[in-house]
Amino acid sequence: MSDASEMITLTIDGQQVTVAAGTTILEAARSLGCDVPVICYHEATTPNGLCRICVVGADGGRLLQPACIVPCRAGMVVETRNERVERSRRTILEMLSSAVNLAEAPAIQSLLDEYGAQPDRFPAAEKRDHTLIDDNPFYVRDYSQCVLCWRCVQVCAEDAQYTYALALDHRGFDTHVSTAFSVPMPESSCVFCGQCVSVCPTGALKPKIEFGLEQGWTLEQIWENTRFLQKNRRKRG
Ligand code: SF4
Repeated sequence: MSDASEMITLTIDGQQVTVAAGTTILEAARSLGCDVPVICYHEATTPNGLCRICVVGADGGRLLQPACIVPCRAGMVVETRNERVERSRRTILEMLSSAVNLAEAPAIQSLLDEYGAQPDRFPAAEKRDHTLIDDNPFYVRDYSQCVLCWRCVQVCAEDAQYTYALALDHRGFDTHVSTAFSVPMPESSCVFCGQCVSVCPTGALKPKIEFGLEQGWTLEQIWENTRFLQKNRRKRG
């Protein structure tokens, strides 16, 4: 285990930086103002290096390092952006866009532009296709827009709520977020805290009112479809 009081010095993009032992490359790079893109990473969740968009070059090594989980080492020389790093990020973005509907993920769309990704490079026939789940008055779930960042699962568990209503289900390409035994959300342990919706980086999880407005629902329809919310508000008032 590293001693957090120990300070180490490394070089990132030609700039020397001294950080506490245990600091990740991403944290050190950000302290210098270096722009390292992230998708699965969120300040409120435990980093897990799932999406790999934050990879950087380290010590000229063959393997790129996921900056969100790899701790800095003394004397390390990091390149946050070079030709290999760009090619890797571009390929990840192209694969993501071949499988996931990113129409409501503007931050990822910007990365596609920035890295010159060609979404058509991989066949789109294999896009993840899930039916929108509308099973409660609070939010809807469209897992065809899910990038499997795991943030919702993590905030529902040890990172925040300790409710454990969500988990990953199935394997490989069919992996998706679900409740235990795929029961409707009101039958799960969900307490409708909304934390999963707040950390979702795409439109996969959406408040019911926002969804209703997008669908062109009338006020009466919104009232009817979220009436549990309204009843609760009345009770509290
Ligand atoms: S639903 Fe949203 S937060 Fe959850 S894994 Fe998918 S993209 Fe991430």
